[in-house]
Amino acid sequence: MISKINHIGIAVKSLEEQIPFYRDILNLKFEGTEEVPDQKVKVAMFQVGEVRIELLEPTSEKSPIARFIDKKGQGMHHIAYESNDIEKEIEQAAGKGIKMIDKEPRDGAHNTKIAFMHPRSTGKVLTEICQSNK
Ligand code: ZN
Repeated sequence: MISKINHIGIAVKSLEEQIPFYRDILNLKFEGTEEVPDQKVKVAMFQVGEVRIELLEPTSEKSPIARFIDKKGQGMHHIAYESNDIEKEIEQAAGKGIKMIDKEPRDGAHNTKIAFMHPRSTGKVLTEICQSNK
């Protein structure tokens, strides 16, 4: 079951350039950075209530984030919903015709399992389901 929004992902060219806005202007709680080799990104995380803002900087030109920035520029990239059973969410969505980018959960930042749904199936919003590994 999906219970809440876990995080909002924002594509940036440079964490160094964008971190000060969230940390020093919005005064959000900065939780540090983490590299996610699987997605070829470096992530900076901020906590706002129960939601996290994740800034995503590509670490390679082959990163999906690099391709996104090339096509659309920096900005909102995805919304991630938290579920307590990611495999069930995938099965259910795929069963109803949603195109899954990930048919199996994979490792995300912050000790989570994640799966993306294709924006073509979701009204153009790249949608992520995540579940924390407890
Ligand atoms: Zn995400």
